[in-house]
Amino acid sequence: MRQALLHALSCIFVPLFLFGQSTAIKAGKVLDPKTGNMLLNQIILVESGRIVATGPNTVIPGNATVIDLSSKTVLPGLIDCHTHELLQPEDERGFPPVISKSQAFRTIQGVAAVKKELEAGFTTLRDLDSEGAGFADVALRDAINQNIVPGPRMLVSTLSLTITAGHMNNTGLNPDIQIPDPASLTDSRDAMIAEIRRQVKYGADWIKLYATGTMRHVDPVTLEPVNQVSLEDVQAVVNEAKRWRKDVAAHAYGGPGAKNSVLGGVRSIEHGMLLDDETLKLMVEKGTFWCPTLGTYVPDNASETTELQRKIIARHKETFQKAMKMGVKIAFGTDVGAYEHGTSVREFLRMVEYGMKPLDAIRSATLRGAELLRMEKDIGAIEAGKYADIIAVDGNPVEQIDALKRVVFVMKEGVVYKNFK
Ligand SMILES: [Zn+2]
Repeated sequence: MRQALLHALSCIFVPLFLFGQSTAIKAGKVLDPKTGNMLLNQIILVESGRIVATGPNTVIPGNATVIDLSSKTVLPGLIDCHTHELLQPEDERGFPPVISKSQAFRTIQGVAAVKKELEAGFTTLRDLDSEGAGFADVALRDAINQNIVPGPRMLVSTLSLTITAGHMNNTGLNPDIQIPDPASLTDSRDAMIAEIRRQVKYGADWIKLYATGTMRHVDPVTLEPVNQVSLEDVQAVVNEAKRWRKDVAAHAYGGPGAKNSVLGGVRSIEHGMLLDDETLKLMVEKGTFWCPTLGTYVPDNASETTELQRKIIARHKETFQKAMKMGVKIAFGTDVGAYEHGTSVREFLRMVEYGMKPLDAIRSATLRGAELLRMEKDIGAIEAGKYADIIAVDGNPVEQIDALKRVVFVMKEGVVYKNFK
């Protein structure tokens, strides 16, 4: 039994950086997202989880393990800045998961989910709300960091801040029964500050704020989303987060909730399909990032959309095109979990369909993502000194973005998790 388990584990983890041991990757083509150049016949040398040298003339030490990716295109590991690893597509239908599933079960589902993201080429995730699974995202992050389960590096936000009757409230339930809401109901600034402290205490890396409501809160005629925060609320949240050296991500479709978030100093706006010109301009001025999560609002079956959804999808596309022109910092974020884990590539396809160059879509999931997470020194490019987060695909994604569907190799911090050559 023990032997079978060890064998199973060895199929998952292939540790290649035994102390002092080097790994040399022979890469046929390496994309440098900074310049957009495709560098030919590179050798990437990895030691102790980091890239120590890269270039055409890198000397391979005699004891190095050699990985041959000479027929592949090699890229930095991808970064998804908006995921929900504790949420599953079925949770979006029927009973809310706080009623139908135990947190233990949801955590096990999360273990399976993170493995799928990793195998799809995502080596870093910012997970924005455990969606009622409490601090299970902290547990998942820590289990990955301790090599108990395979998964991407995670930055987690735990629960989120919302208001009573706003987003992430359970609705349509018997008020005589006490059922926990998925997010934290913080109806005053004092409550927001106290909740941030609790979340930091239990392991949050980021603070997530619901600055507007969700789809059910959008006025079907004016498309005005419900505003959940004042400028003073956002400032209080950002200041408290800053005390703990944390940043704030604001779910904001548009309107005053989005504007207050930008003026109040959040680091990123999430979704933002109804952002107006004034707020987009403010985002450029203040350097606020935007995770558009285009794909999550477009159902697989177009015939299932309502008129309101069709209007919002059209506005989302317009806003995305405007933001690109205006120079808003667009970071790749998917909302995966609302749809099947391991299929986040659909966001790249949607970005390119809406007019972004494939190279810029890749940049949003490498350099830009790293900048949003303040991890530029460690991730986002294949350079000496950075973590050895390296993936390879069949084909050239700069010419055909759907090459990112064919991830054949994944290394995170020098450990190979997938190698289907
Ligand atoms: Zn989300």
